[in-house]
Amino acid sequence: MKRREGARVEAQALTRRFGPNTALDRLSLTIEPGETLGLLGANGAGKTTFIRLVTGYLVPSEGTVTVDGFSPVTHPEAVHARLGYVAETSRLYPDLRVASFLRFAGSVHGLSGARLEEALEAGIERFSLRGVAHRLVGNLSKGFQQRVSLAQAFLHDPSLLIVDEPTSGLDPLQQDEVDAVLAGLRGERTVILCTHDLGEARALASRVAVLRAGRLVAVGPTDEVLGGPDPLALFRASGAAA
Ligand code: ATP
Repeated sequence: MKRREGARVEAQALTRRFGPNTALDRLSLTIEPGETLGLLGANGAGKTTFIRLVTGYLVPSEGTVTVDGFSPVTHPEAVHARLGYVAETSRLYPDLRVASFLRFAGSVHGLSGARLEEALEAGIERFSLRGVAHRLVGNLSKGFQQRVSLAQAFLHDPSLLIVDEPTSGLDPLQQDEVDAVLAGLRGERTVILCTHDLGEARALASRVAVLRAGRLVAVGPTDEVLGGPDPLALFRASGAAA
């Protein structure tokens, strides 16, 4: 697969309210091309809301977010062409064989004919799925299902990958495999890695951003932000950082 740089994501005073509740509060954050950013925060901190604003699933109440300068609100096609989304494995189709599922996913991304077959081959190769290509998705281990999930997000060669809790529920060996795949993308694609696993953030993310109650409470090199004696203080409502 050709080497690429990744997309730039830029949020400016990005705000999303649900009724009286502010789920994301004036978030300003730039994610550089090729960077793996760990997006951290306790349950309800606003991570999913941010991701949904980047993908265009939600529209901002105020502020803006762009991918390579394109707004998901005004230029959804340009954003979707750049975006791969790895959700939890439960979004896979268990009754399809791996190759059929990937073909289906590729067609949803607008691929067909020789381009689709090429993308399928590349995905099977990159995510080491050759041995299971003809097996039913539902019969695979969770680790392999996560690889299938990564492969489907990758078929249209996106420059931005959003990965939500990629190793949740996996055993340590499977976690290691998925983390190795993600580590291989460093510098080549922009990755937003949503995780509750600080070890995973330390291993994969060059920078982390911590949200608390919708506000950005810390952002910087992973070692610096998580390197203090009590990094969990950042997550707590009464945490020291503000
Ligand atoms: P988790 O780690 O549990 O996935 P999160 O950091 O992704 O949490 P969000 O799902 O973004 O957090 O939620 C942020 C806040 O916005 C929460 O208070 C949540 O209840 C609220 N919220 C999110 N989506 C909606 C919605 N569609 N309607 C109303 N409130 C919402």
